[in-house]
Amino acid sequence: MDTLKLQKGNLENFLQKLGEEFAVFAPVMSDGIVSFLELRPGQKSVLDFPRTHKPPKDIFYPQTEVMLRYGRDGLQSTEYKGKPIVLFGVRPCDAKSFILLERVFIEPKYKDPYWVARRNKTLIFSLACNDPLPSCFCNWLDGGPFNKTGSDIFITDIDDDYLFEPISEDGERFLSGVDILKEATEKDIKKAKNAKERAESSMEKPPKLDSLKSSLDTLWDETLWDEISLRCLGCAVCTYSCPTCYCFDIQDESRRGKGVRIRLWDSCMFPLFTKEGSGHNPRPLQKHRLRQRFMHKFNYFVEKQGEFGCVGCGRCVSLCPVNIDIRSFITSVIQTAQGRGDT
Ligand code: SF4
Ligand code: SF4
Repeated sequence: MDTLKLQKGNLENFLQKLGEEFAVFAPVMSDGIVSFLELRPGQKSVLDFPRTHKPPKDIFYPQTEVMLRYGRDGLQSTEYKGKPIVLFGVRPCDAKSFILLERVFIEPKYKDPYWVARRNKTLIFSLACNDPLPSCFCNWLDGGPFNKTGSDIFITDIDDDYLFEPISEDGERFLSGVDILKEATEKDIKKAKNAKERAESSMEKPPKLDSLKSSLDTLWDETLWDEISLRCLGCAVCTYSCPTCYCFDIQDESRRGKGVRIRLWDSCMFPLFTKEGSGHNPRPLQKHRLRQRFMHKFNYFVEKQGEFGCVGCGRCVSLCPVNIDIRSFITSVIQTAQGRGDT
């Protein structure tokens, strides 16, 4: 199927029509911040945003989620039973993050029914980044501002129109039934190609990361962890804003014979995350917790899943209150290992 186009003036109309069949989540401005929210009738989406503060992972994996209700009369499941979901206007790094998260939530041994119930029949419309931010480094990690991994339909903003390129079979099937879209012309495709070249060339050339995992293998006890962690506040902004972090806690809240089991995001940056019932904490210092975060993304995830557990969205870079920049950490790990002759 060829690439199609939608006049920008028809966007709201298009989204309203989508809403008849799907629960549509799109970037919406609320209190001066753009977040992915379910579109209510008449609500406008914002597609000229650089990056949402909060990644859209909470649509499939809410920050707080009731897993089941219980009482004297038994258990009641709370799995999602709503309309199929459309995620509209997701940036390429976030679309790719779903592929990484699914290695955890849909891997054969442990299928997470809550994730699966929402993710089933979902369509992901990702939106190319024409103007990557200075903190973005998706191009270091096999991604890029026009990367299509994880996308069903890929949107490019070309001035007066949006181009819609089908990527998956589901995306193609969906687009073939939408009559509001027109065929893109050669001129439109050329504009998209130019936008891609401009965006890609605006990003810094990435360093080689081939030796990053093996460098980390040798740096468990390095003073590097002391240096980086000295200014870390342990606030966990980096993990809560990360599209690929997935740690959670489960708690029961019950009263007078009935209750709920709740799953909520947790963070390896908190001391309580690993504190045992005996009082012992295997990661007593912030440097141990920071090391865990970096090791998980760039060492353990590679070992288990074959790729880095980071998509280079740059949220942790721009939101860390003390400017701990994961890119500097990556380069100093490689340099430290090279300086010691380990690589
Ligand atoms: S956001 Fe920065 S200060 Fe807060 S826990 Fe993460 S690295 Fe530490
Ligand atoms: S570690 Fe930082 S840059 Fe990488 S995916 Fe998470 S928030 Fe984005």
